[in-house]
Amino acid sequence: MYAQYTLKITPVDSNIYLYTSYGDVGNYKNIDANAAVIISGNDAIIFDTPWDNAQAAELIRFVQDSLKKTIQLCIITHAHVDRIGSIETFQKNNIPTLCYYKTSEEAPKHNHPKPEYNFYNRDTTLKCGDIEIIAYYPGAGHTIDNIVLYVPSKQFLYGGCFIKSGLSQSIGNIADADVTEWPNSVKRMQQRFEKTGVKMVIPGHGSWQSEIAIKNTLKLLKEDESKGY
Ligand SMILES: [Zn+2]
Repeated sequence: MYAQYTLKITPVDSNIYLYTSYGDVGNYKNIDANAAVIISGNDAIIFDTPWDNAQAAELIRFVQDSLKKTIQLCIITHAHVDRIGSIETFQKNNIPTLCYYKTSEEAPKHNHPKPEYNFYNRDTTLKCGDIEIIAYYPGAGHTIDNIVLYVPSKQFLYGGCFIKSGLSQSIGNIADADVTEWPNSVKRMQQRFEKTGVKMVIPGHGSWQSEIAIKNTLKLLKEDESKGY
């Protein structure tokens, strides 16, 4: 295997780095997948794995060698290749991997190893250094296991593939989606984080520099419904 793609890493806050990895699906080449790294004190938590093992090694080196943080955990937000594709590299590096239990059920169906740890409560609070992270299962959407991750102190919402970019023109890969339930799940998520608020939303793919990602997701789902899928 050769290193075909290189990660793009962007700091967006003193505690948050976004990273974009790249991969191919069938005839679609060089697809971008957005994800994140949260740092606090000496600790780091990685949201999702890069697309492939070469990019995972690159990310781990960046966090350990450049940022000099200990990676406490990698949280997987659903069992598709753009989220879990390089889990083996994390496991080889003795980095614990965690997911909602439904992702452990889905992973073998897509030929991915299961994350080591599961959480069963749909609303689970974790900590990275001083920073609280909420892992929330909004219900079925892009997949039946998709979760979102939220950092209340930063009003930062990591939507993964459950949320489309504000610039996205299509609802994307719906092979494993529940398009009927998806809008209800988005509304549930909005209600969950209404009180603490959302300033930045990171979609699974495409530009995150748009404030209408959630709105656009609901709009695309509505259009999708009218097409009769
Ligand atoms: Zn997916």
